[in-house]
Amino acid sequence: MLPTPLVLALALATAGDDPIPPVVHSVSDISQTFTFYMDGRFHRQYLDGVGRDARNWGSLEHLDLENVNLLILTAGDAHIPYTEAALDHVEDYVRDGGTALIMADGQDPMPPGAALTAHFGATLTTSSVTPPLETTPAARRLIDRDHEWVFRRGTVLELSRKWTVHLRDEGDRPVFAARDLGKGHVLLGSRGLFGSRPDASDPINAEAWTPLLVHYATSKRIDPDLPHNSTWAEHERELGGLILEFHDGTERYADAVAAEYKTVHPHLVAITGVEPSEGMIKRLLILPTGGGGFSSGQRIAIGAWWGNYPERRYPMVELIGHEAGHSWVLPHAEPLWNEPIATYLGIQVGLRLDMDEAQQTLDKQIARGRALDPDFTTIDPLSPDAPRDLIWGKSYFVFEELERLHGPGALAKYFRTKRELLPKGGRNNYTMDDCVAVWSTAVGEDLFPWFASLAFDVDESRTSLWPR
Ligand SMILES: [Zn+2]
Repeated sequence: MLPTPLVLALALATAGDDPIPPVVHSVSDISQTFTFYMDGRFHRQYLDGVGRDARNWGSLEHLDLENVNLLILTAGDAHIPYTEAALDHVEDYVRDGGTALIMADGQDPMPPGAALTAHFGATLTTSSVTPPLETTPAARRLIDRDHEWVFRRGTVLELSRKWTVHLRDEGDRPVFAARDLGKGHVLLGSRGLFGSRPDASDPINAEAWTPLLVHYATSKRIDPDLPHNSTWAEHERELGGLILEFHDGTERYADAVAAEYKTVHPHLVAITGVEPSEGMIKRLLILPTGGGGFSSGQRIAIGAWWGNYPERRYPMVELIGHEAGHSWVLPHAEPLWNEPIATYLGIQVGLRLDMDEAQQTLDKQIARGRALDPDFTTIDPLSPDAPRDLIWGKSYFVFEELERLHGPGALAKYFRTKRELLPKGGRNNYTMDDCVAVWSTAVGEDLFPWFASLAFDVDESRTSLWPR
């Protein structure tokens, strides 16, 4: 995964210099299931300029909703059911005036969100929505009747009479609806009505959602001067220099994942010949997802049930190796192969643990690269249109060849030399020319011609690191 500075998310949530005071204080819940989209992109797409968003990383039932008027929830993940206490907490918040938006679809078996919607008298189904969608007369004071709905995919709803349908599909079945409860509101609709891209580039239906969300949420007044902060996972445990972070729902994974990290760490030291860069990997967050992880250098976050962990172990070892590997590479991110080298480190750990899947993963990716460039001498992996499989396959091939030609421990020589040659404080850009210079120094041989023979556009005159 790309390194995502967590500090950014937290800084956004506490920014105090908005030009216009926000009228919406939203909380995007990522405690039931983490996605990069819910970690700030929903806000960028639908509430930018009108609302301030905070994220909930901690157990939902403990969330402080005092100065919040929009709580954004998803269908969740079967590994972490919504607890009864969480359902009651959401209900109390709504009765007290808050608005809850639930974006959810049914499937077989039903996601935890089905219990959440059932709590409010709505049933998720497995029947697919049939576009086009039509705004109902009841919703036309809130939504322009001519709005053309963009819809990805999802399922229709079955609703008690407490609900007002805002949006129907071609079969006259509810796709989005709202209900009052106490002083507040519950909004429920298919996930396919909203964006989902982690780069926030798909703000579908924003012309409809922004005014509608503002309308409902602002029936509860928030005070923009009072706290509205992100809530962090509430548990932490000190593990010999590492702080393990988790919440109630991820607790049953925490110790096992931390033990995997403790297994992986010495192998990474052996492979790279160095400890993680200064100040790196102080915290390990157990992330409520099977979808991967991220690294901000100082903190690595690992998806609790990645690759069907704990049933399967290799994917978890590779992921931890990858995310931790970023902390060995920083503060000078690698050119071109910053992601491939991280996974390569994970693969090397797997090999050292005698895991067959490690060799298979390596071979498969090199084969995919060879399918595009049979002897790896034709396609420049630095060219803007180089295919992903070529970049990854050629990167692995280069690391393997460097080890074969300049090993044993070629990668360790490289990492040690990089630490010696580059200033500690970081550098704006570490280019492939710089990288080849470091490799050349590490192995005591000018490798520019060798890289050039593999179609890399590298040039020693473009780096100050070579010749030594
Ligand atoms: Zn990564």
